[in-house]
Amino acid sequence: MAKRQKVIAGNWKMHKNLDEAMQFFKEIMPIVNECSDKVYIAAPFTHLKTLCDNFKSSNLVIGAQNMNDASKGAFTGEISAFMLKDVGAKFVLLGHSERRHIFGESNEFINKKVKRALTDNLQPVLCIGETLEERESGHMKDVLQSQLEDCLNSVTADQLNKMLIAYEPVWAIGTGVTATAEQAEEAHRFTRKLIENKWGKDISDLIPILYGGSVTPDNVKILMEQVDIDGVLVGGASLKSDSFAKIINYQTIKV
Ligand code: PEP
Repeated sequence: MAKRQKVIAGNWKMHKNLDEAMQFFKEIMPIVNECSDKVYIAAPFTHLKTLCDNFKSSNLVIGAQNMNDASKGAFTGEISAFMLKDVGAKFVLLGHSERRHIFGESNEFINKKVKRALTDNLQPVLCIGETLEERESGHMKDVLQSQLEDCLNSVTADQLNKMLIAYEPVWAIGTGVTATAEQAEEAHRFTRKLIENKWGKDISDLIPILYGGSVTPDNVKILMEQVDIDGVLVGGASLKSDSFAKIINYQTIKV
């Protein structure tokens, strides 16, 4: 079986000023440099240039939390893939549940952003995930399928090969409720199968699928032990360098 890249990703959302961000990186860089996995941080737009200029490491990948699908134009308050690339960002989160549910982003809009990011050489990290109501009414798989297929509409296998997917059940984000390792693995296995059916086994074997939803130092190890879980996308626990350091070092955690 193909060896997939492992990724530990942090999503800072609308937290930290620039001084706090700089301090976090000073504390975390020795651990990042020793780590065998990739460490991603999705930082606020205003911090990207400084962080990209100051903290370089082959393991560290700094990116953004959102972008617009247009390359430029009269879109007050928006930011383009081109601008993100220009300041050194390497990836962008797309389809995060907060964008879908608070800002009303549709699969169709997310698809346009995915294609724009790919065209402009910014790695899309596509987030998908069901609400509690959808899970409890037995629609988890339908939701994952439509989100994945619609957001990746007309994306080629070669393009998908450059992306990451994050399964983030909405009911687990910021709630302190984590999916059990079995629940997460079931959703990841299903997502990988969807990718195999549509884009082929070479891609489905290689594409990293991250789990997100109340990941902490206490649950990261069991999640990372699952066959189809290749990484984690961490919100709250990525804000403090000590908890994020423990997550990066999940292999050393004793359970
Ligand atoms: C997220 O924002 O993607 C997330 C998973 O947040 P938390 O870890 O706080 O649930």
